[in-house]
Amino acid sequence: MRSTKRTDTSPELALRSVLHRAGARFRKDYPVKTEHRSVRPDIVFPARRLAVFVDGCFWHRCPEHGTQPRAHGDFWRAKLDRNVERDRETDAALEAAGWRVFRCWEHEPPEEAAVRILSVLDQRTENSRK
Ligand SMILES: [Zn+2]
Repeated sequence: MRSTKRTDTSPELALRSVLHRAGARFRKDYPVKTEHRSVRPDIVFPARRLAVFVDGCFWHRCPEHGTQPRAHGDFWRAKLDRNVERDRETDAALEAAGWRVFRCWEHEPPEEAAVRILSVLDQRTENSRK
């Protein structure tokens, strides 16, 4: 089975390079421990406890481009449903561990996603749950 977790796909690379140029300090391939498992977000700001995911339009069912193959429809429906379900579980696990989660779509211009991420980083965090 091909992994749905592709690292260094070009939308991620583009976003990382915009963030890098903006002077943001982030890590990739940084495992975040949650209660039951560790999660590897696409981009991590460890000091700010912010996890960023760049979701693929197909695999994560983007409302604009998410399509379902007609062939083997049941298989794909179940598989994509599971992906989306797993995304929500991951978000909940990270939030329970005191992290904030930011998701953007691979179709979003990296500059726009970066602006949103930088503004999340600027927000005050002391009210975040432990
Ligand atoms: Zn999309």
